[in-house]
Amino acid sequence: MSVPLSQMWAIASYVIRQKLAGRERYPLVLMLEPLFRCNLACAGCGKIQYPAQILRKHLTVEQCLAAVDECDPPVVSIPGGEPLMYPEIGPLVKALVARKKYVYLCTNAILLKQKLEAGLFEPSKYFSFSVHLDGLRAEHDEAVCRDGVYVDAVEGIKEALRRGFRVTTNSTLFDGADALRMREFFDTMMDLGVEGMMISPGYSYSKAPDQEHFLRTQRAHDLFSTLLSNPKRRWKFNQSPLFLQFLMGKRDFECTPWGNPTYNVFGWQRPCYLMQEGYAASFKELLETTRWENYGRSSGNEKCRDCMVHCGYEPSAVHHTFASWRGFRDTVQATVTGRF
Ligand code: SF4
Ligand code: SF4
Repeated sequence: MSVPLSQMWAIASYVIRQKLAGRERYPLVLMLEPLFRCNLACAGCGKIQYPAQILRKHLTVEQCLAAVDECDPPVVSIPGGEPLMYPEIGPLVKALVARKKYVYLCTNAILLKQKLEAGLFEPSKYFSFSVHLDGLRAEHDEAVCRDGVYVDAVEGIKEALRRGFRVTTNSTLFDGADALRMREFFDTMMDLGVEGMMISPGYSYSKAPDQEHFLRTQRAHDLFSTLLSNPKRRWKFNQSPLFLQFLMGKRDFECTPWGNPTYNVFGWQRPCYLMQEGYAASFKELLETTRWENYGRSSGNEKCRDCMVHCGYEPSAVHHTFASWRGFRDTVQATVTGRF
């Protein structure tokens, strides 16, 4: 595991506080989407399908901070769209770091070098770039439907590391992904010097035009088992080892979509960033008025049937870690041995 100890402790103490307070539902990672605009048009993306008048909109910094303050999670992830196109991204990150939130800025990194050179960000233990890379050059450029993006992203990663920033990667694996090539990708990222990697299977968005490439549950287990069996000691993953075991089919969890709530220009999205079942005006309203029993794999909801995406199941893995000594022991064991 690559998550720094201070971050691990911040999350562990937060979860313990929630449990002591008897909170049944609490957020771990707020997915803060300040805009849907992007400088790419990936085939599997559901965000850039919005009409132009929605793509032109963005949240104000004040709206973003009000959402963070109400939800008050230990970690804030800023996806999009492309957050480096958000005009207030520098001030937003600065304000979040000042609040001691662990911030992951999820970017395709096309603009990363340029924004670093403009001095928009300062290195901090609270701040990490999470660079979207779905594999090595050929695979990634194909996934994002444009040649040259991998090379730009790697240049951005090198520049961020050179300037002392924390850098992680996030990869979405779709049906047909080549496990051996992904293992090469893990080696390449470790050679570059990234702090850790995050992986997740893709989800079938109703808006996505490229439906046939999404993984079904069993094929996903097979893929992740091949990928993560015999992991190299040098591979570092910036996510719960129990979630990786879940992807491999070694564990079963139920979805906890309130663990990674999403806030964007429409409000608080129900029940998660993958599905559009309406919006709430506040986080409190989201928690209290969402029919949570209608979601998750055991709910019978066919939109959730094959879902194993991190936003629903990684919080379940973290919750499991602190739910029993056994969960805690299993997490420590996998963390120390690097085996899943
Ligand atoms: S980079 Fe991200 S937000 Fe942009 S089109 Fe691709 S998946 Fe969508
Ligand atoms: S199972 Fe997936 S799609 Fe359904 S609520 Fe959970 S995260 Fe969302």
